[in-house]
Amino acid sequence: MSDRLITLEEVEHLLTDRSNGHSFSPQLAAKFEQETGARRARLLRVSTLRTAFIYNVFLFGDLFLTPDTLRLALVLHLAVVTPYMLLVATILPHISNANLRESLGASIAVAMVLQILAIFCMTRSPYAAHYLYFVPSTVLSLNSVQRWRTAQAHVASAIVFVLLLAALAWRNDLPVEIVAMHSMIYVICVSVTLNSNLLIEREQRWHFLTTLRERLHAAESDDDANHDPLTGLGNRRYLDKQAGELWSIGAAGDRSVAAIVFDVDHFKAFNDRYGHVLGDSCLRRVAACATAELRNAGDLAFRTGGEEFLVLLPQTDLDGALGVAERIRAAIAGLGIPHEDSGCADVVTASFGVAVEQVGTCSPEALIDEADAALYVAKRKGRNQTYAQGAKARGGRMSAA
Ligand code: GH3
Ligand code: MG
Ligand code: MG
Repeated sequence: MSDRLITLEEVEHLLTDRSNGHSFSPQLAAKFEQETGARRARLLRVSTLRTAFIYNVFLFGDLFLTPDTLRLALVLHLAVVTPYMLLVATILPHISNANLRESLGASIAVAMVLQILAIFCMTRSPYAAHYLYFVPSTVLSLNSVQRWRTAQAHVASAIVFVLLLAALAWRNDLPVEIVAMHSMIYVICVSVTLNSNLLIEREQRWHFLTTLRERLHAAESDDDANHDPLTGLGNRRYLDKQAGELWSIGAAGDRSVAAIVFDVDHFKAFNDRYGHVLGDSCLRRVAACATAELRNAGDLAFRTGGEEFLVLLPQTDLDGALGVAERIRAAIAGLGIPHEDSGCADVVTASFGVAVEQVGTCSPEALIDEADAALYVAKRKGRNQTYAQGAKARGGRMSAA
């Protein structure tokens, strides 16, 4: 997704309006995911693998606190939860949906807690209540390591709390003070981590927004530097850049590029009679005719001088380029802008020169010079027409060698 689909105003607004916690529009969310998703998947994968290792070290807890259920703990650890973690770690990098990826990451905490609660429910050890401390520490540590996103953090924490209460109710043999203590510890641990995660998430979004703002600013000034302020078309600087790119792509294959150079007829006389303000507005409308008549994504239009324009058409043959030139010429004349001193019509018109060359055998300058020479002929032959060396005369106002 291009940065240009996101406006600078939107980003500025989010950065100044802190009340919404930098919540993103769908477009921004997609951009955020595009830029951070792969890294996030790697972090979740690595943290899941590390957690799998640490989780199994805690089998010593089973050995000391609940030895009567050690065999069950071993089975649940090694045959159920650890394989599930390894499965999650394997598929995480291949998941493109952010919500699914985050939910899978958080689900391993639920799996670990289910194992802890299963042992808590089955053991007859006098230290069963102590074994329950694994629940808040699992949620706390995994939440901090994986830095759960807000939605998944809330859902996973709530699921674990419900499971914890269900297990306490199922055993029903702990004094109410201990039950209250476990519930309180869990709620305190989870609230602290949720809060710090929320702050980290906001910080990340803020950082993303500030770098995006810088990029949009840079793109905007680049735009200003590359475009003619009057017509919005590319300027000479942009032409050099685009021609360089076009020629470097085209040089590899045997591609043709067409150049159409056109110039408003008797424009000095137009300015003299109607003034510069109307002259400027005329140039804007002429430029709009050129952009409106371009049909292919790679076609480019430039204002190369006062009332001179250039169109570059990649992979276009002479017939195609003559067709485009004629469309633009007809569109300009069709504007019907009065021009009493035009000499050839009573409206503003333009003359066109067209040239086509293979990228590999001709420089951009040589191609444009060739089109310029053709334009000169079109002017000499009476203006308001298109000329190309070697073209067959067809309909419209076209002249041929
Ligand atoms: P030709 O048909 O041979 O092209 O004649 P022309 O009068 O169009 O050509 P010439 O080169 O003699 O004059 C170009 C004129 O274009 C000179 C100037 O008044 C006008 N011009 C150039 N840049 C601008 C501009 O930015 N705004 C306005 N309003 N006029 C401009
Ligand atoms: Mg002119
Ligand atoms: Mg001129």
